[in-house]
Amino acid sequence: MKTTSTVTIPKTSQAAVFSEVGKPLATERFELPQHLEPGAMLCKIRMSTICGSDLHTIFGRRKEPAPLILGHEILGEIVSMGEQSMQNGNRIPLEIGDRVTWSIMASCGKCFYCLKELPQKCKSLVKYGHTCCRDAPHLTGGYAEYICLMPGTAVYRVPDCLSDEVATPANCALSTMVNAVETIRFAAGETVLIQGAGMLGLNLIALCKEAGAAKVIVTDVGQKRLDFAASFGADVCYNPANHTTDEIINSIQSLTGGHGVDVAFEVCGNPVVVDQAVKSLRIGGRYLIAGLVTPGSDLGIDGNMLARNCLTIKGIHNYHHEHLAKGLAFLEKHSHKYPFAEMVGARFPLDRINEAIEVAASGEHIRVAICEVV
Ligand SMILES: [Zn+2]
Ligand SMILES: [Zn+2]
Repeated sequence: MKTTSTVTIPKTSQAAVFSEVGKPLATERFELPQHLEPGAMLCKIRMSTICGSDLHTIFGRRKEPAPLILGHEILGEIVSMGEQSMQNGNRIPLEIGDRVTWSIMASCGKCFYCLKELPQKCKSLVKYGHTCCRDAPHLTGGYAEYICLMPGTAVYRVPDCLSDEVATPANCALSTMVNAVETIRFAAGETVLIQGAGMLGLNLIALCKEAGAAKVIVTDVGQKRLDFAASFGADVCYNPANHTTDEIINSIQSLTGGHGVDVAFEVCGNPVVVDQAVKSLRIGGRYLIAGLVTPGSDLGIDGNMLARNCLTIKGIHNYHHEHLAKGLAFLEKHSHKYPFAEMVGARFPLDRINEAIEVAASGEHIRVAICEVV
């Protein structure tokens, strides 16, 4: 059991605050808690990466409570801990100074959904980078010097072999994709179609390959992302800008002995790809939808095909904190075989956050990082 640290805690932390669409993020100072409630932690942020969903908020494609400190892909160092620090399967108890990552949400552990193993749907859910900074504990986003972790957050020590660049985005895309692969019961020897080669799709390629995929087929409209997919080991890549949907479906059929793929994943956020996946699956195939998180995504598919082809379609959103633990173990074991570190293509200090956002929005890099040393 831990008590509050004897390390001197600064009085305030700088943070970049989002207030409304079209306005640059503004620097503000917030007071740091000098005493923490049981289960809470204070971390100094080492690195945050700008997620596509942060850009959705900044450019008005998604509504969040404002003003807020964005950023949920965060890596930090423990500065102080309240009593009953959260261990969550860490082999050695957490200590002040540990480099840590944590679940993107805090959940209660006892409500209807927590008891159904869906803590990401907790009735009193709080998500980092999604909470108004006028409400205590104020510092709950990654675009800041410090962050307050709330009770009910699963905190994990990051293996020493993983760089900040590799470990920072793990609590978002990788953990969600660990959930995806598990939910659809992907098995060794199966063929897979991955629709989208952004952060989700690239993590998925590595997960499927290490799970023993027989063939990994990837589609994306961005040539740079497809090149990245190839460097992650995708066997075949299609750019729908260069092929008709029918050409791609026919090609997938011929790559899979005329049967179609065993499994398909939607990780691009565009519902037009759903019909293509349904037509690319073999009889008895499984389809997982993870990217369609904006309301009004009309799937436009023929129900007759679902019934006659005995298809399974499932959806997932975020993850159970155990998926993050599994994601870290995966990176520890396999990340050296994949260009994970190269996904962070640019680094900016916190006081140049607006420049960083501009670069992130250009789509030039898979991830742009905010960190002290650039
Ligand atoms: Zn994210
Ligand atoms: Zn709950």
